[in-house]
Amino acid sequence: MDAEVRARVALVSDLRAGLDAGQLFLVYQPQVDIATGRIVGLEALARWRHPRRGLVGPDEFIPVAEKSGLIVPLGRWVIRTACRQAKLWFDAGIAPAFVAVNVSGSQFRTPLELETTFAAVVAETGLPPARLELELTESALMDAWVEKRDVLLHLRESGVKIAIDDFGTGFSSLEYLSRFPVDRIKIPRCFMQDLGGGPGHAAVVKATIGLGRELGLGVVAKGVETREQLELLKTWGCREVQGYYFARPQPAEELTELLRRGELHPMRPPAPVAADGTVHPR
Ligand code: C2E
Ligand code: CA
Repeated sequence: MDAEVRARVALVSDLRAGLDAGQLFLVYQPQVDIATGRIVGLEALARWRHPRRGLVGPDEFIPVAEKSGLIVPLGRWVIRTACRQAKLWFDAGIAPAFVAVNVSGSQFRTPLELETTFAAVVAETGLPPARLELELTESALMDAWVEKRDVLLHLRESGVKIAIDDFGTGFSSLEYLSRFPVDRIKIPRCFMQDLGGGPGHAAVVKATIGLGRELGLGVVAKGVETREQLELLKTWGCREVQGYYFARPQPAEELTELLRRGELHPMRPPAPVAADGTVHPR
């Protein structure tokens, strides 16, 4: 336990130093309109290039940042960096409708900080607020709604979009959905896994798509990896998806060409290789 605590303390101090030293960067994953292939938005995802450990994923360092309070400066950096990048794309005439950032529940515990950061970033970058989407989990949204309703409403009034991330994994009541200032709901990746295999997840996904339609909310399915998943989602009326089947998260520089084209089609499986090593192009 002692070793574990020491490792965590070291990680916190590395993360603090890494944030100052510019070791963090963002990658962006496209969200695609199924019918047209148009890129509707990009989700910004944080990465950390640790000098000794190499690339560290957010599943490892975000919980550490949340526990230590570092999530506040980290979250501020994420919003600023994503908005600056969105403005560059906007000025180049290739920006998608919005860039989404993940907001932890703990960032809403200092809601004024979130609002101030956002106002400062908008003033600094000149990005229209409607070009930013905040992704909150159900529980973060519930907490924010109960305790910091005014901040949520201010942000929304300024034009910022709000999405519920991993909808259906929390334990909140459906009733709140019709009252919350929400624009979109995101179906979690874990629901994609056995879509064709049984009634369980398929029923939940279908119901979520229907609920979104009835309430006039956008619905995005996350973690789409196969053609079969895409076909089922299409049949059920889902319009937007995000997943490896279309694109992995990528650094901003690598996305410029794609954004210039503005649309994206499923990644082709690798060309088959014959026994003699010949590659048969598709
Ligand atoms: P998330 O919000 O659910 O983000 C989607 C995650 O699924 C990303 O992992 C993405 O790379 C991965 N993913 C996307 N498509 C596919 C797919 O088709 N198959 C599979 N297997 N995975 C897919 P990533 O980037 O490792 O992020 C993990 C989580 O870390 C995020 O989950 C989010 O909750 C959190 N996170 C990432 N960046 C930030 C940040 O800047 N702030 C906060 N607060 N949390 C962040
Ligand atoms: Ca997310």
